Amino acid sequence: MPELPEVETIVRGLRTKLVGRRVLRFEDRDKKVVQISEDDIIKARIVEISRRAKNIIITLDNGKALIFHLKMTGQLIWEERCGGSDFCLRNRQGGGHPDKTWLEKLPNKHTRAIFYFDDGGVLYFNDIRRFGYIKTIPLTLFRPLSVIPVKAGIQIRDKLRRESTDNRVDSHVSSENDKRVLNILDSLGVEPFEKELDVGYLEKTAERFPNRKIKQFLLDQTIIAGIGNIYADEALFDAKILPMRLVKDIKKIEWQTLIDSIRKVLEQGIKFGGSSAENFVDAFGQQGRAHEHLKVYRKTGRPCPNDCGGVVSRIILGGRSTHFCPKCQH
Ligand SMILES: [Zn+2]
Repeated sequence: MPELPEVETIVRGLRTKLVGRRVLRFEDRDKKVVQISEDDIIKARIVEISRRAKNIIITLDNGKALIFHLKMTGQLIWEERCGGSDFCLRNRQGGGHPDKTWLEKLPNKHTRAIFYFDDGGVLYFNDIRRFGYIKTIPLTLFRPLSVIPVKAGIQIRDKLRRESTDNRVDSHVSSENDKRVLNILDSLGVEPFEKELDVGYLEKTAERFPNRKIKQFLLDQTIIAGIGNIYADEALFDAKILPMRLVKDIKKIEWQTLIDSIRKVLEQGIKFGGSSAENFVDAFGQQGRAHEHLKVYRKTGRPCPNDCGGVVSRIILGGRSTHFCPKCQH
């Protein structure tokens, strides 16, 4: 399962290729995964690409947004047609589950949807296990915290709201599908890079779950969205906080350190093109420089990178494998 840095890397890569492009044609190859219809996208132009937790949000100029989730085995691969029936690996962009698909011609039997664009580019959504999805939602229904407020999408949403003759549109959820998508987005906690993540928010939230261990607190997507197992371990190591500490015992200064550490380790993950133990493959089919920047995750038995003389230990915490240094984390 890709973590937030991988998804952010995909978003940044696709943004360079897709913004401004118009969808000419669309192929739906799997009704379970593809929960949109041709009407949702044909002739629509892509206005922006953003991320909310691990949801990839593509805003269109027709008043709708597409929501992609890669889940376990999803891939989003953009490809530029370079003439004939051949394909050029160097003309691929995107990310997701790493397998030999990256080196092969597309579509294949795991291709669930294909988008054809006005510049000849093609976007494939592949998913072996079919847990991923593509959904759509009207932009008017987005609440301020439902998406990272990137300018263009918010402007379109506000314009649509102004033009709408039905003033109740904001509170009116048009279909069961819309409701499900909204529930997914609205149940998510704050984004790690947004200013809403601050000491006050964490202290207040910790009061609701005083006896929860800090690692489990960090993994709760309704509190902070997008931190997975790898970056929870890395952030706690960076902040020198033991993963089994109870949140009620975390001091104010430690919360601030932890916020800084969360942002630092996620930024590093993005800088390294995304990485995960499940072998993330970057935009060009190379295995990401994955573990090079990780300090404790899956480094059990190695000397602590802080040179404290400790050794990286592994325990199971809340069913998840957890890595830490028992000497310099307190
Ligand atoms: Zn140490």
